[in-house]
Amino acid sequence: MIRFWQSHTLRLAASYLAIIMVLSIGFSIILYQVSSDEIGRQVPPSYNRFYEPPNLELREFFEHRVNEGRLHLRNNLVLLNLFVLITGSGISYLLARRSLRPIEEAMEAQGQFITNASHELRTPLTAILAENEVALRRPGLNLSRAKKIIEDNTEEITKLKELTDGLLNLAKNDNHIAPKSVAIQEVVSSATTNVLKLAQAKQVSIDDQSSNITVLAETDKLTQVMTILFENAIKYGKANSTVYVSAQPKGKAGVIQVRDEGPGIAKKDIPHIFDRFYRGELSRSSRKVSGYGLGLSIAQQIIISYGGEISVTSTMGKGSTFTIKLPLG
Ligand code: ADP
Repeated sequence: MIRFWQSHTLRLAASYLAIIMVLSIGFSIILYQVSSDEIGRQVPPSYNRFYEPPNLELREFFEHRVNEGRLHLRNNLVLLNLFVLITGSGISYLLARRSLRPIEEAMEAQGQFITNASHELRTPLTAILAENEVALRRPGLNLSRAKKIIEDNTEEITKLKELTDGLLNLAKNDNHIAPKSVAIQEVVSSATTNVLKLAQAKQVSIDDQSSNITVLAETDKLTQVMTILFENAIKYGKANSTVYVSAQPKGKAGVIQVRDEGPGIAKKDIPHIFDRFYRGELSRSSRKVSGYGLGLSIAQQIIISYGGEISVTSTMGKGSTFTIKLPLG
């Protein structure tokens, strides 16, 4: 990989250098032509019927000086071009590295993403395969055992679907965006419906304190973001607690907040929770809380695509507040 980037950097640097040298040599030729004509004027014109012939020695002296002047000019221009070649090589290399770095970083991130995705896909697939293989090797597989295997496999397949849905969402969002005025109260209500079962199972209530504002976004995608935030608030929060939602205008932005009374997010996790596949220590260690660490990165990708921002503040033991800012629409 390093060799690949080195050869591309060198190729791009060579192209930059070629452009610099073509310009430098071109200008030098023009400069030489113009200056050499100017220098040539120092020689008195030769004899014609309007002009008395000058002293021949004087004329030779002038011609000698002109030739010397031209030689000097030529040498200086050659030196200048050598200087441009040396400094241009260095500058071209630095420029080429600078131009290619963002592409290199994007490709590295993509590679990392594929590695993580494959790793996450492999775990449930291996579990399904292992369970099926063991079941097939058993001589007398009774119906209740077979049902149990199908149940376990269905659970793993559901997780796989959740993961592939997340991956698809991340890929989809890079495409077309058509922001319109979206009523926050409508979005909150749809997202609440989406998490109703989860909330009921944990006896969590959603307290909607949002005012009637509209922001520039898309209803389904903003609902998806709110659903992710509600799901997390319920998933990581305590049973019998409340999730508070508010939406207010602030300057030219609509500010939406989702606050929970959960365990909070560790300080060291906060800078990473919006990264793809990142899961906080608590969620990684507790097998009860399902997820692949894609929810918040999907939410962030959506919010950024509308020119907004999403952030979090959290106090351990007290809860977390996710804040979304979007242009008012
Ligand atoms: P997932 O929930 O699948 O792990 P997310 O991207 O939605 O992935 O969240 C990333 C991490 O952020 C979670 O693993 C969890 O550690 C932390 N997190 C997100 N929301 C909350 C919350 N409301 N309370 C505590 N921790 C949270």
